[in-house]
Amino acid sequence: MGLYELIDYLVRLKLANHRKALCVLGMAANGEPTDKIYDVCNVSRAELKGYLSRAREKVGNGYKSLVIIKHVVPLLSDIQPIIVNNRCIICNTDLRYSQDALMHVRYRHRDMVAKYVDEVVKKLAKRMLETS
Ligand SMILES: [Zn+2]
Repeated sequence: MGLYELIDYLVRLKLANHRKALCVLGMAANGEPTDKIYDVCNVSRAELKGYLSRAREKVGNGYKSLVIIKHVVPLLSDIQPIIVNNRCIICNTDLRYSQDALMHVRYRHRDMVAKYVDEVVKKLAKRMLETS
């Protein structure tokens, strides 16, 4: 549990092209009101709570998770999703559900996830040095 796990989760959401979760997490991290998040991200109350609680689980604290997300989400812009129209463009596997996509990315493309997590961590560290 920790920073690394949360970054790993966010990288996988991006690779899996999980727009709803990234929309909710990005808006919540920017302090947007819940009603607006429902509208903009087109999610149910249960979905919204689910995404926030999964992020919270990684670091054990909701506020802390949002602070990290706020800094990490902009760094994901260089990562291109590998799941396009429910198909993995790397290995041509069909993936019907978004949850399958997350698991697929985690277990079949572990090296790619690790590479991007490493890049995000390096960018975060660089930013911290620049602003201190
Ligand atoms: Zn694949």
